[in-house]
Amino acid sequence: MFTRDVINTLKVPAGRQIRLNAISTTLTETGEMKKLKKRVLKRRAQEILEINRRELTKAQELLWASDCYSVLIILQAMDAGGKDGTIEHVMSGVNPQGCRVWSFREPCPQELDHTYLWRYVQVLPERGMIGIFNRSYYEDVLVGRVHPELLDRQKLPPRLRGDEAFWNQRYEDINALERYLVRNGMVILKFFLHISKEEQKERFLERLTDPEKQWKFSASDLRERRSWDAYMAAYEGAISATSTEWAPWYVIPADHKWIARTAVATIVTAAIKSLDLSFPGVDEEKKALIMRALQELEAEGKSSC
Ligand code: ATP
Ligand code: MG
Repeated sequence: MFTRDVINTLKVPAGRQIRLNAISTTLTETGEMKKLKKRVLKRRAQEILEINRRELTKAQELLWASDCYSVLIILQAMDAGGKDGTIEHVMSGVNPQGCRVWSFREPCPQELDHTYLWRYVQVLPERGMIGIFNRSYYEDVLVGRVHPELLDRQKLPPRLRGDEAFWNQRYEDINALERYLVRNGMVILKFFLHISKEEQKERFLERLTDPEKQWKFSASDLRERRSWDAYMAAYEGAISATSTEWAPWYVIPADHKWIARTAVATIVTAAIKSLDLSFPGVDEEKKALIMRALQELEAEGKSSC
């Protein structure tokens, strides 16, 4: 179901100008999936998610032990797009010591005193770790584009303001940063959880009416929804300009949470496995140390009998 071919259709080729309304938010109408009943599809997706979760646990252990690569997962979506649930379900088998999640909100005054990438660079995953950015520096070419007044708070020199060249320079900065990171051993995977406007409405209605979900509703949810088309245009611009060979974007159909979670888990697991990692070997000195330790423990066993 989530074959390499299907996964490849979700990857945005470098240099491709995408149109989001031409990309499915469900995936269930494509390929062999359209022949299967939704109930069957959902069960199958959950089985695949489970397999990937187990493989990811092993892959993460190797990543940690080999201490050479790190993985940065970037999650972007419109509100209620399912970022939190995706993180919870995909990463639930991973050792918490090897994974950190960072959620980014509006920058604080101290962050605004620095250049816009500063706050993200400080928390990039170190070798052996998986870092998840729940929203990221991409907000600075998304929400910043939809609400250009946010730029006023960034204290930029007057000549650097939001014209087309300005946004293109930000895309270039991001591409250059990511290329530098990848060249130095970071794997970068970027996911846009693509929901339809109708599905967002359903999820907001659930937030508003379910007493256990009301706490999630925020005043900004409806305000930002009114700018839906501007956000779609900003996402199209950013994804098209920053999906690169070294750090590709995946547009994940996210109207069904079970499809989105399984697709993300499959891509992350495959990316770590493709590094072909193995547990570090031991040198002669370590082998001698192991022998002495074994002898000491065996001798202890004999004397205590
Ligand atoms: P949910 O999907 O559940 O609504 P969320 O990720 O939207 O979760 P919130 O606390 O609702 O979390 O909102 C975070 C807000 O912070 C978003 O509206 C986002 O646009 C904003 N934000 C994040 N980074 C920046 C930034 N660099 N500049 C301005 N606003 C930002
Ligand atoms: Mg929100």
